[in-house]
Amino acid sequence: MTPNPWKAALSQLDGAAAKLNLDPGVHDVLRHCKRILTVAVPIRREDGITHVYTGWRVHHNTSRGPCKGGVRYHPDMHLDEVKALAMWMTWKCAIVGIPYGGAKGGVVVDPKDLTRRELEALTRRYAAEILPLIGPERDIPAPDMGTDEQIMAWIMDTYSMNVGYSVPGVVTGKPLAVGGSRGRSAATARGVMYVTGATLKHRGMSVEDTRVAIQGYGKVGGPMVALLEDLGCVVVAVSDVNGGVYNPRGLSARGIAEYRTQAGTVAGFSGGETISNEELLTIDCDVLIPAALESQLTEENAERVRAKVIIEAANGPTTPEADEIFEERGILVVPDILASSGGVTVSYFEWVQDLQAYFWDEDEVNDKLRTIMEQAYVDVLGVAEEKKVRMRTAATVLGVSRVAEAHTTRGLFP
Ligand code: NAD
Repeated sequence: MTPNPWKAALSQLDGAAAKLNLDPGVHDVLRHCKRILTVAVPIRREDGITHVYTGWRVHHNTSRGPCKGGVRYHPDMHLDEVKALAMWMTWKCAIVGIPYGGAKGGVVVDPKDLTRRELEALTRRYAAEILPLIGPERDIPAPDMGTDEQIMAWIMDTYSMNVGYSVPGVVTGKPLAVGGSRGRSAATARGVMYVTGATLKHRGMSVEDTRVAIQGYGKVGGPMVALLEDLGCVVVAVSDVNGGVYNPRGLSARGIAEYRTQAGTVAGFSGGETISNEELLTIDCDVLIPAALESQLTEENAERVRAKVIIEAANGPTTPEADEIFEERGILVVPDILASSGGVTVSYFEWVQDLQAYFWDEDEVNDKLRTIMEQAYVDVLGVAEEKKVRMRTAATVLGVSRVAEAHTTRGLFP
């Protein structure tokens, strides 16, 4: 049976609420998504036939500010997944201290099945359908799996055409030409790199000897290979949906990037031996970085994972059952809501720049990102040590406590 991410998200919230002795009323509010919009997205395909896709936009919580969260295009999406991702965004924004609540959206579609014109039509129609929920003061979408900066530009244009003037601050992760931020495209990967550095330091592990395996070679996993190489780590394995490649002496970031540009996949790269995705998760390495889908590390494979540290770049890659096994086995899991928050942090910078119409250079973006990520790591570690809980519980406790404080301070309307 496929693990349900919403159940996992609720069980994490319940665990944090117990540690915090959270008021039952506040706990109940946080167990619910504030609003859920389901939309039908019809487009005319190239063959002239109209096809209707299902999409959603979910707002989990707005106590700390407008909603923020990605848009995912994936054929297996379901509402419970969107709800879980929205809740995780709420905690993530609170952990890094940026003034947003959590949202998520998406469409049940494989974008690779669409032509560019169809993809644009789907995106514009989806944006038009969720228009009542989005806006720079309401909810600011961003890229996620299956979406990219071009799709963000189409959403920005659709919104702008509807209101009658240009509104760059309605989405983040846009191209630079329409108000994007320098440093945004690699921000999630860069944030993971800062967190990896902080974790290795805390664990007394030398960066130079650290062997890393990365599942997923997309917007997050792709730039991470070179960034970790720059940090001094040895990336021994990478994979994507088509399979993976392993070399115990290290893979060349440049070699893989060039091969991926040509072949459209990392599978088949000649710089290492071919492995399956399942093999990547249990490969001999020090740090495992899942950067693809949720529910990848489960009770089926957790016993066989050989990494000492797991840094979650993807959202929700570890099931609660696997989490228990990792804790028993002494494997440190640095949770998604901390490790992958670099993307939303630079999205926040992008929004700030758009609202001010004043843009920063890349060093400024990266420096500010480093400060926020390192502080968030210290804050989560502090809670973990004080409450004697694992990092995921500590991160959730920190996120939930900040959201609960905002909720309580504002009071319950009416
Ligand atoms: P993407 O679509 O750019 O890339 C996804 C990658 O995962 C691709 O390489 C794909 O081939 C691979 N993949 C898909 N199915 C797989 C499978 N079964 N096994 C192995 N690999 C598989 O998506 P992304 O933006 O890189 O997002 C990846 C993860 O990171 C998601 O969980 C997303 O929610 C999370 N995330 C993304 C951002 C962001 O800024 N893009 C920020 C925070 C978290």
